[in-house]
Amino acid sequence: MKQSTEKKSIEKRNIAKCKILDFMLNQGSTTKADIAKQLNLSMPTVLSNIGELTEKGLVMEVGEMESTGGRKARRISLKEDYYYAVGVDITAHHIGMVLVNFGGKIIQQQRVRFDFQTDIAYCRQLAAQIQEFYKDIAAEEKILGIGISLPGIINEKERVLVKSHALQLENYSLKMIEQLFSLPVYFENDANAAMLAENPRQLGDVVYLSLNNTLGGAVCIDGRLFSGQNCKAGEFGHMILLPGGKQCYCGKEGCADAYCAASVLSDNGKRSLDTFMQMLGTDADADRQWEEYLENLAMLISNVRMIFDTDIILGGDVGGYLEKYMMELAEKVMKYNQFDKDVSYLKNCSYQKEASAVGVAKHFFQLYVNQI
Ligand SMILES: [Zn+2]
Repeated sequence: MKQSTEKKSIEKRNIAKCKILDFMLNQGSTTKADIAKQLNLSMPTVLSNIGELTEKGLVMEVGEMESTGGRKARRISLKEDYYYAVGVDITAHHIGMVLVNFGGKIIQQQRVRFDFQTDIAYCRQLAAQIQEFYKDIAAEEKILGIGISLPGIINEKERVLVKSHALQLENYSLKMIEQLFSLPVYFENDANAAMLAENPRQLGDVVYLSLNNTLGGAVCIDGRLFSGQNCKAGEFGHMILLPGGKQCYCGKEGCADAYCAASVLSDNGKRSLDTFMQMLGTDADADRQWEEYLENLAMLISNVRMIFDTDIILGGDVGGYLEKYMMELAEKVMKYNQFDKDVSYLKNCSYQKEASAVGVAKHFFQLYVNQI
């Protein structure tokens, strides 16, 4: 009887600890009082858990709150160098690599030209590149895992890339790559991965529009990625925007991808997106093209908002540039959507570069916290 009561009390403490760590992971720096309030925990529970976590070296004090009179509350956060994770974003011609610390900060990043191949030699070289990237930066025992994001539909459970237009593949086993690492490996679709970079646990219900060279998306419900029946949820790129419109690579006409992907602005890679953005304001053709792009994006945003009625994060390559143009975009969105009185549901992405790599890395921190 006594044993079972003790067991229950330990379980209860672990649930509270898990909740606190989850909150701190998604929140950044905070105070003990805020944790108690937000998580509906008693102050003694928060104090004993934070004490334990501080002793373990997982949590540290990082300063004081601005005082509103009375004693200043101490700010606490997770100890950033307690753990690390590696994130890798594989595309047809490049790999982007990041090392992310427990606080969600990018410690090091590198993007290299690396043409995708299906053979074992590619997998070996890929593994060597990744190991070379992190070997001098962090002790391997501090690295929780290696996340790999890919442009395509992924069955994570089976470790299969079901279909990727960008890599021109179907039913490609990812086990070959996984076996080359001694650390745990996690695979995720690139748009889902970018969503994971945004701390979806904190956001609850949210949609991510990934405006890359192909247009992807991700859906989070109640803080969790929603994959759908066939891991295809959030394929906003192939919603018809203009019937009988421009040819899409998928074979249909008028898909959103043909109007809102970054490749529309980069003229299918003939110039960089950065070059295009720099032309704005000095080149009338580019200005016209941008105006048209924003108009089409506004239509897509309005459609997505009608379906989900949630915040929409604007990410991907174009998303990284949009902050400056939010007023213009908002005006256009409002034209298509009479249901909302403003566009405060539109959010800019947190990581302008390498969001997918960051997201697959951050997955390991969430996993650690969930399992504590
Ligand atoms: Zn399409």
